Amino acid sequence: MASRDLYEILGVDRRASQEEIKQVYRRLARETHPDVRRDDPHATERFKDVNEAYAVLSDPVKRSQYDRFGQVGSEAGPFGGAAGPFEDLFEMFFGGRGRPARAEREGPERGSDMRYDLEVTLDEVASGVERRITVDRLETCPVCFGTGAQQGSSPERCPSCNGTGEVRHAQRTVFGHMTQVMTCGQCGGTGTYIARPCTSCRGAGQAEARKEITVTIPAGVEDGMHLRLAGEGEAGVRGGGRGDLFVVIHVAPHPVFARRGRDIYRDIELTMTQAVLGDEVELPGLEGTVPVKVPAGTQPGAKISVHGRGLPDLRGGRGSLHLTARVVIPTRLTREQRALLEELARLGGERPQGDEKRKGKRKPILKKMQDLLK
Ligand SMILES: [Zn+2]
Ligand SMILES: [Zn+2]
Repeated sequence: MASRDLYEILGVDRRASQEEIKQVYRRLARETHPDVRRDDPHATERFKDVNEAYAVLSDPVKRSQYDRFGQVGSEAGPFGGAAGPFEDLFEMFFGGRGRPARAEREGPERGSDMRYDLEVTLDEVASGVERRITVDRLETCPVCFGTGAQQGSSPERCPSCNGTGEVRHAQRTVFGHMTQVMTCGQCGGTGTYIARPCTSCRGAGQAEARKEITVTIPAGVEDGMHLRLAGEGEAGVRGGGRGDLFVVIHVAPHPVFARRGRDIYRDIELTMTQAVLGDEVELPGLEGTVPVKVPAGTQPGAKISVHGRGLPDLRGGRGSLHLTARVVIPTRLTREQRALLEELARLGGERPQGDEKRKGKRKPILKKMQDLLK
């Protein structure tokens, strides 16, 4: 094709005017049209050649390009990116490439997937939980069972297209006699026609309905995880399956516990003596109390880990509970406590000066001078 001379195809001289080319083309388009030459097996090819030649020679820019280089453009086909009206022309004549085939338009269509955002607490993550959620989703109409037709009637063959889903428009144009294939406007290409639409769904075959669904949230889920509930999305059409429902998990922040993966973290408050002497305490955890052994000599900020008391892992096992020691220093002491602490200090070789004594002994320098001047 690319090697064939475009002027030869149209049978015109190289110096032919645009007007001449146009007139020759009109005549050829009529004569070679496949609708006219039904018994000629080469008609379509010939007609295509004529149109391709005309698409170049009718355009002064493309024509001069062709005259100089023997072709138009450098890529996409013999005449350079068969675009614009050229492409449209073949779309019209030969049924194009962009249009979906009729079977695709009519076939079963799977329902859409849906998303539901669900917030859970860390306590629910620890134990796993079942939650009831409410979704509004498309359901097959229960009145017409998805046919869209009123009870007692059924969809009929579309009278406009006789069930083909396509209509052909024959018309006379500058290119001659042409047949344009279009999607049937009455049935939207389905080939069926609903004379008496279902009053419940107005012929759509589907209607939105509120649905309660139980979601089983496994222990150990993490923030941002998607739980896929197969077949809990929207209903399909023409026998297509349902879509899926994706439940997106959001774990609410906990007032006490922080989480990293399957491990949980919190502070543990210890008294001075607990930190010094060690202790065994019961600490409220996510699931009941947790016995914690505080070693003697625990420093402020020290970590204490309790294995197996974190969150369950989806892959099995359990994380740890990590505690950070906070030693609470008493701010008020009884006379007896003070005496004991002073005794303790003396035993340790310290000479602590309490607030009261210091007030008496270490007067500010200004106050001392004032006293001397009295
Ligand atoms: Zn209905
Ligand atoms: Zn139709």
